[in-house]
Amino acid sequence: MRPSSLALMLAASVLPLVAHVRHSQNSQAAQKIHKVEKVADNVYCIYGNGGNIGLVVTDKEAVLIDDQFENILPGLREAVKSVTDKPIKYLVNTHWHGDHTGGNRGLEKQVVAILAHANVRNRLVEDQKGKPADQQGGLPELTFGEGDAGVRARMDIHLGGVEMHLVHFKAGHTDGDCMVGLPASRVLHMGDLFFNGVIPFIDLQSGGSLAGMLENVEWVLSWLPEDSKIIPGHGPVGTKKDLARFRDFMKAAQAHVKANPGKSGKELDETFDHKTWADVKPLGKFLTYAAFFDIAAGRQPAK
Ligand SMILES: [Zn+2]
Repeated sequence: MRPSSLALMLAASVLPLVAHVRHSQNSQAAQKIHKVEKVADNVYCIYGNGGNIGLVVTDKEAVLIDDQFENILPGLREAVKSVTDKPIKYLVNTHWHGDHTGGNRGLEKQVVAILAHANVRNRLVEDQKGKPADQQGGLPELTFGEGDAGVRARMDIHLGGVEMHLVHFKAGHTDGDCMVGLPASRVLHMGDLFFNGVIPFIDLQSGGSLAGMLENVEWVLSWLPEDSKIIPGHGPVGTKKDLARFRDFMKAAQAHVKANPGKSGKELDETFDHKTWADVKPLGKFLTYAAFFDIAAGRQPAK
């Protein structure tokens, strides 16, 4: 992607989310905003500001999956300490967005490695070009997968008695999505390939699409054990049933767009069957139904 189109993309899609969250976090920085939920014996979900964080405690260390924002890192460290005194030694990024990788710079000195799909590193490098020194760094050091997001890829890591599978199926939310499976615990962190109870943001300019999101979710539903717990990028920890509901919502949205060619996001919002999908809420102020329908139709949301 050319830098000019990347800049456009940032202006159009990602920055509003970051700006919105940054704005709301300023007043919360001194407060305890993180909440820890136990998902399995050694696996936790940490809610805060931005994407949900996975915490895996092994015999030797703590492993983080995503890290929200740099200026709320002290609170995240406290949340981790409330569960384990093991040091944070590895960090996985599910994708490149700032509400999932913002803590990278603050954590990079203490971790052995930051792990992610190759396109997460590619996009962060591109994003940091020309920025001041204090906004550089925190890049993934161990990457898997290829620049071609259509190529399936997997990296298994074995840490302190815990086996973790980092899996890229195909472009969905972005072109560098990684899900993290913990087979022994029956837990899957899906990053932003799963929004539980909220409408999904899809980053078209980073290679995402509604069809790609759907294919990722269908694929997971085809093999995930029934009793699994799923950590979504946004929303509460869910089950396979919740993921199927998310799949059905995306299918309904896709059918609605197809049945109404040429309609604006606003018009699609006005004619959608909201009664059936009352449990799927807008994503804060950042993503309204009208904006979501523009994205579902493959175009940037109208201002
Ligand atoms: Zn995202």
